[in-house]
Amino acid sequence: MTGQRVHIVGAGIVGLATAAALVQRGCSVTIFDREGVAAGASRGNAAAIAWTDVAPLASPGIWKEAIGWLADPLGPLSVRPAYSLKILPWMLRFLAASSKSRVEASTQALAALNGEAYPAWDRLWKASGTHNQVRHEGCLEVFDNEAKLQRARPSWAEQRRYGIDVTELSGDDLRAQEPELSDHVVGGALLPGWTQVDDPLHLCQSLASWLKEQGVLFELADVSAIVPTEHGADVRLVSGETHPADHVVVACGPWSRMLASQLGDAVPLDTERGYNITVPSPGLKLRRFVMLPGHGFVLSPLSTGLRIGGAVEFGGLELAPNWKRVDAMITKAKSLFPNLDASKGERWMGFRPSLPDSLPVIGPASASNRVTYAFGHAHHGLTQAATTGELITALVIGEKPAVDLLPFSAQRF
Ligand SMILES: Cc1cc2nc3c(=O)[nH]c(=O)nc-3n(C[C@H](O)[C@H](O)[C@H](O)COP(=O)(O)OP(=O)(O)OC[C@H]3O[C@@H](n4cnc5c(N)ncnc54)[C@H](O)[C@@H]3O)c2cc1C
Repeated sequence: MTGQRVHIVGAGIVGLATAAALVQRGCSVTIFDREGVAAGASRGNAAAIAWTDVAPLASPGIWKEAIGWLADPLGPLSVRPAYSLKILPWMLRFLAASSKSRVEASTQALAALNGEAYPAWDRLWKASGTHNQVRHEGCLEVFDNEAKLQRARPSWAEQRRYGIDVTELSGDDLRAQEPELSDHVVGGALLPGWTQVDDPLHLCQSLASWLKEQGVLFELADVSAIVPTEHGADVRLVSGETHPADHVVVACGPWSRMLASQLGDAVPLDTERGYNITVPSPGLKLRRFVMLPGHGFVLSPLSTGLRIGGAVEFGGLELAPNWKRVDAMITKAKSLFPNLDASKGERWMGFRPSLPDSLPVIGPASASNRVTYAFGHAHHGLTQAATTGELITALVIGEKPAVDLLPFSAQRF
């Protein structure tokens, strides 16, 4: 049924893309956000439409890598001591999701979702006039260690199994593509289908302006509860106001856990904190996105500068950032790009909303099918936002979603 009044909680990229899909199908949409457009991870991420990623983070091989990483407090993966007990249940679920059979199921689910990501974004870029913010240069995966290069080959084989183009390159081939790379680089791969946007904040702001032109309303308001009613659901604000709707979508990233729990779904949502620095004058020019999987971070050339960052830190939503993590990534990046000058830049930390099986939650709440969840996209929220918006819209207006949503159910835990 079109023409419904839909309230969305969260003006991150997932909420914005969902509003776009809904308004194009004739719904009246209001987005509530306590801080405004793109206040969370959608503001400062690495800008990749990484639809070529099909492997979940939870995998049999990750533990071998993770133990080495955890030994270095500033390495690609760390747990803040003050948060170690709190994250333990999530870690145990992550361990359970790393079995061979669970990984196969998660890979299929991710491949189905990410297989729709590019076409869905293409539709949204064109509809909203943001297609000029997209680059199609592909991405390089780069290794400075033979053993790690060796361990990457099975994941490339898996990607090829899903029809993704991955071309292995020698160190010299890579230097021919990106002449700034140092002699330490021993090999890697080119993924030509990979896409990126000029700047994720700019994209969110452009989408928000276009949505306003389409009649979408933006409310600066803190949502305290969603209460199902006979014919829909109410959005309740901390201020005490109540806003009734035919349908409510929960898209507040890592903060969705509390609202879902009130609606009868105890989802094990936590956050993988990530760090970066954006350097306006980095002293080198990269043609395309460079991933350093062995070090857990990337270099992303944006319209605003070179963004260097990534890493995963388990530390919840309250602990202060540890900026030494950014310094550690700069030091490593300099060993691979000797001309890099990152002495001046803007540092940032963001919260990836993550479930232990690396799959988002897309589907109805237990308490009412007039409340739908769209959160938990972890490392791929920008990538999967446009698809998620289309899937949520299908649920709201009563059509069959283009992707089987069973693996993404909130009730799977
Ligand atoms: C370092 C880093 C790099 C990344 N790189 C990439 C990448 O290259 N490609 C990719 O696809 N993904 C990437 N990601 C992941 C991606 O950024 C996230 O998955 C995505 O931004 C999540 O979007 P969201 O809309 O779900 O949540 P958010 O962006 O967190 O937005 C949630 C919004 O909800 C609002 N909110 C919360 N609670 C309430 C409430 N009670 N009432 C009202 N408003 C509320 C918040 O203010 C916020 O604006 C990266 C993440 C990090 C941290």
